[in-house]
Amino acid sequence: MMKTVLIDMDGVLVELNSDRFKKEKLVKGFFLNNRPIPGAVQAFQYLNRIYDCHIVSTPVWDNPHCWMEKRMWVDKHLGGCARKKLTLTHHKNYFKGDFLIDDSMQHGVKEFQGEHIHFGSFKFPNWVTVLSYLNQQP
Ligand SMILES: [Mg+2]
Repeated sequence: MMKTVLIDMDGVLVELNSDRFKKEKLVKGFFLNNRPIPGAVQAFQYLNRIYDCHIVSTPVWDNPHCWMEKRMWVDKHLGGCARKKLTLTHHKNYFKGDFLIDDSMQHGVKEFQGEHIHFGSFKFPNWVTVLSYLNQQP
Protein backbone atom coordinates (compact mmCIF):
# COMPACT_ATOMS: atom_id res chain seq x y z
CA MET A 1 0.00 0.00 0.00
CA MET A 2 1.15 3.54 -0.75
CA LYS A 3 2.43 5.54 2.18
CA THR A 4 0.74 8.82 2.96
CA VAL A 5 2.46 12.21 2.81
CA LEU A 6 0.76 15.29 4.23
CA ILE A 7 2.05 18.60 2.90
CA ASP A 8 1.68 22.07 4.39
CA MET A 9 1.07 25.09 2.16
CA ASP A 10 2.52 28.33 3.59
CA GLY A 11 6.31 28.16 3.62
CA VAL A 12 6.35 24.70 2.01
CA LEU A 13 4.34 24.86 -1.23
CA VAL A 14 3.70 28.61 -1.11
CA GLU A 15 6.41 31.25 -0.81
CA LEU A 16 5.45 33.49 2.08
CA ASN A 17 7.34 36.51 3.31
CA SER A 18 6.77 36.72 7.08
CA ASP A 19 6.73 40.53 7.22
CA ARG A 20 4.16 40.70 4.45
CA PHE A 21 2.19 37.92 6.13
CA LYS A 22 1.91 39.95 9.35
CA LYS A 23 0.85 43.06 7.48
CA GLU A 24 -1.37 41.57 4.79
CA LYS A 25 -2.85 38.36 6.17
CA LEU A 26 -6.31 39.91 6.34
CA VAL A 27 -6.16 41.43 2.85
CA LYS A 28 -8.30 39.92 0.11
CA GLY A 29 -6.10 38.40 -2.62
CA PHE A 30 -3.01 37.96 -0.43
CA PHE A 31 -3.22 34.16 -0.28
CA LEU A 32 -4.09 33.70 -3.93
CA ASN A 33 -1.24 35.79 -5.29
CA ASN A 34 1.80 34.27 -3.58
CA ARG A 35 4.23 32.32 -5.75
CA PRO A 36 5.11 28.65 -5.31
CA ILE A 37 8.33 27.81 -3.45
CA PRO A 38 11.06 26.83 -5.96
CA GLY A 39 10.64 23.17 -6.90
CA ALA A 40 7.38 22.77 -4.97
CA VAL A 41 5.06 22.21 -7.93
CA GLN A 42 7.34 19.61 -9.52
CA ALA A 43 7.90 17.97 -6.13
CA PHE A 44 4.16 17.67 -5.52
CA GLN A 45 3.57 16.18 -8.96
CA TYR A 46 6.39 13.70 -8.45
CA LEU A 47 5.41 12.67 -4.92
CA ASN A 48 1.79 12.35 -5.96
CA ARG A 49 2.74 9.40 -8.17
CA ILE A 50 4.57 7.40 -5.50
CA TYR A 51 2.75 8.49 -2.33
CA ASP A 52 -0.82 9.16 -1.31
CA CYS A 53 -0.40 12.95 -1.03
CA HIS A 54 -2.69 15.36 0.80
CA ILE A 55 -2.39 19.04 1.56
CA VAL A 56 -3.11 20.14 5.12
CA SER A 57 -3.01 23.86 5.70
CA THR A 58 -4.07 26.22 8.48
CA PRO A 59 -6.01 29.19 7.18
CA VAL A 60 -6.25 32.59 8.86
CA TRP A 61 -9.46 32.36 10.87
CA ASP A 62 -10.24 36.08 10.63
CA ASN A 63 -9.84 36.17 6.84
CA PRO A 64 -12.55 34.06 5.16
CA HIS A 65 -11.05 34.97 1.77
CA CYS A 66 -8.00 32.99 2.84
CA TRP A 67 -10.10 29.80 2.98
CA MET A 68 -11.30 30.30 -0.57
CA GLU A 69 -7.98 31.53 -1.92
CA LYS A 70 -6.08 28.50 -0.66
CA ARG A 71 -8.48 26.30 -2.60
CA MET A 72 -8.00 28.52 -5.67
CA TRP A 73 -4.20 28.57 -5.28
CA VAL A 74 -4.10 24.77 -5.29
CA ASP A 75 -6.17 24.67 -8.46
CA LYS A 76 -4.09 27.37 -10.14
CA HIS A 77 -0.66 25.90 -9.39
CA LEU A 78 -1.17 22.18 -8.84
CA GLY A 79 -4.24 21.58 -10.98
CA GLY A 80 -5.93 18.23 -11.40
CA CYS A 81 -3.36 16.17 -9.50
CA ALA A 82 -4.30 17.97 -6.28
CA ARG A 83 -8.05 17.84 -6.83
CA LYS A 84 -9.98 17.12 -3.61
CA LYS A 85 -6.73 16.67 -1.67
CA LEU A 86 -6.86 19.92 0.29
CA THR A 87 -7.91 20.08 3.92
CA LEU A 88 -7.94 23.30 5.93
CA THR A 89 -7.49 22.72 9.65
CA HIS A 90 -6.01 24.11 12.85
CA HIS A 91 -5.46 20.52 14.12
CA LYS A 92 -3.08 18.64 11.83
CA ASN A 93 -2.59 15.96 14.50
CA TYR A 94 -6.08 14.61 13.71
CA PHE A 95 -4.84 13.44 10.30
CA LYS A 96 -3.27 10.09 9.68
CA GLY A 97 -0.12 9.95 7.64
CA ASP A 98 3.36 8.49 7.47
CA PHE A 99 5.01 11.86 6.87
CA LEU A 100 4.07 15.49 7.41
CA ILE A 101 6.15 18.07 5.54
CA ASP A 102 5.75 21.31 7.49
CA ASP A 103 7.89 24.36 8.25
CA SER A 104 6.19 24.95 11.60
CA MET A 105 5.61 23.09 14.88
CA GLN A 106 2.24 24.71 15.37
CA HIS A 107 -1.35 23.62 14.77
CA GLY A 108 -0.88 20.02 15.83
CA VAL A 109 2.41 19.37 14.02
CA LYS A 110 4.18 18.58 17.32
CA GLU A 111 1.48 16.03 18.20
CA PHE A 112 1.42 14.42 14.73
CA GLN A 113 1.71 10.61 15.03
CA GLY A 114 3.83 10.08 11.91
CA GLU A 115 7.22 11.52 11.05
CA HIS A 116 7.56 15.30 10.81
CA ILE A 117 9.83 16.42 7.98
CA HIS A 118 10.75 19.91 9.17
CA PHE A 119 10.89 21.95 5.96
CA GLY A 120 13.35 24.86 6.14
CA SER A 121 15.37 23.22 8.92
CA PHE A 122 19.08 22.43 8.70
CA LYS A 123 18.30 18.85 7.65
CA PHE A 124 15.60 19.81 5.12
CA PRO A 125 16.38 23.30 3.80
CA ASN A 126 14.53 22.84 0.49
CA TRP A 127 12.59 20.47 -1.75
CA VAL A 128 15.74 18.81 -3.13
CA THR A 129 16.65 17.47 0.33
CA VAL A 130 13.06 16.43 1.08
CA LEU A 131 12.73 14.49 -2.19
CA SER A 132 16.05 12.77 -1.74
CA TYR A 133 14.99 11.70 1.78
CA LEU A 134 11.60 10.42 0.64
CA ASN A 135 13.20 8.59 -2.27
CA GLN A 136 15.28 6.60 0.22
CA GLN A 137 12.20 5.39 2.12
CA PRO A 138 11.30 1.71 1.69
MG1 LIG B 1 3.68 26.54 7.06
